[in-house]
Amino acid sequence: MCGIVGYIGNKKAFPILIDGLLRLEYRGYDSAGISTIENNNISIFKDKGRVANLNNFENIKNLQGTIGIAHTRWATHGKPCRENSHPHLDNTEKICVVHNGIIENYHKLKSFLEEKGYKFLSETDTEVIPNLISYYLDNKDCTLLEAVYMACKNLQGSYGIEVISTLNPDKIIVAKKDSPVVIGKRYRRKLYCIRYACNTFLY
Ligand code: GLU
Repeated sequence: MCGIVGYIGNKKAFPILIDGLLRLEYRGYDSAGISTIENNNISIFKDKGRVANLNNFENIKNLQGTIGIAHTRWATHGKPCRENSHPHLDNTEKICVVHNGIIENYHKLKSFLEEKGYKFLSETDTEVIPNLISYYLDNKDCTLLEAVYMACKNLQGSYGIEVISTLNPDKIIVAKKDSPVVIGKRYRRKLYCIRYACNTFLY
């Protein structure tokens, strides 16, 4: 079982995300990764191995972004390695996704996208998600939220996903199906659970 963590607020996201990942370690994992947006640029640090190893990346502690997503992976499609670790980007490198679960129809979606010219850099089922979102953005007159919604409508299997994008750098889009996601809001120094999401879609 892997885990996903996200943060948006007025603090530096990096330490909060690492702390979140460390709290999920008990679930077991083979790889870890983290991504933040800063100056309209997505930074990604990821590799196989332990969450603590992320601290070995030069520059990771300099991340200043106040929005980010993070992942511990338990590989289902593709070996544990840096390329297969999450987060994953779309081809335009504007859409960044972490995913817990399995996309059962990823083969069909990948073939569809490859026919349209999309390139895949990993062996994961997950990489179809950012590229499908990108496809809808390019081909429908829609917002990022609507594109994520349309992409999710085409996913079969179970998932909890978080999406960040330089197209909407002040939002995390969260969607889930048959995987648990908890969303909390800090108010007067206490953290309240505001949503224990069912099969739903949150923005
Ligand atoms: N199926 C995805 C992968 O293999 C996500 C696995 C997970 O839930 O960690 O990358």
